[in-house]
Amino acid sequence: MRIGVIAIQGDVSEHVEALEAALSHRGKEAEIVTIKQKGIVPCCDALIIPGGESTTLGKLLVREGIADEIKQIKNAGRPIMGTCAGLILLAKEGDEQVKKTHQYLLGLMDTRVNRNAFGRQRDSFEVELDIDFLDSTYNAVFIRAPAIVQSGKDVRTLSRIDDMVVAAEQENVLALAFHPELTADTRVHDYFLAKLF
Ligand code: GLN
Repeated sequence: MRIGVIAIQGDVSEHVEALEAALSHRGKEAEIVTIKQKGIVPCCDALIIPGGESTTLGKLLVREGIADEIKQIKNAGRPIMGTCAGLILLAKEGDEQVKKTHQYLLGLMDTRVNRNAFGRQRDSFEVELDIDFLDSTYNAVFIRAPAIVQSGKDVRTLSRIDDMVVAAEQENVLALAFHPELTADTRVHDYFLAKLF
């Protein structure tokens, strides 16, 4: 098995470490590859799109020819997880700002996102979150976090804060508004790996 982490920008090494921890927790082995150029995504059995700055990430994914490869592996049914900026990129539709700036979105989930859903006052925060697939709460780190504000019928809500969806999945695509790679709790990466093994 080979798991790719998009490494154009953002918190890449933390995802690699979290994957390693979750793999050893499951007693499984996989090759983890970081991806900066085209040609590698098609060889991956699963893919992570990390947090960062979604405008920059989107531009570079297109420029490097990686965006189309991601769409292809989505259509091939391989698991994809996007965290924070990754959740934004996976969406079909953005907020007014996204539309005005013609920001690139992959459009792999039937979701509409608000890029900075929690506003300036709450730039970064941690919260004990109830997540559908976990049997106890998860300490989630949010950093200038987005949220899903509208979703189609095929999207399953996994967690919410008030009326905002902060974790969701649609078929093989999992999106999280928070940063599961920044805490020692590997249960989210574990859930993602369960789609592979
Ligand atoms: N809100 C940021 C954006 O629009 C994402 C923040 C993050 O990934 N930590 O790109």
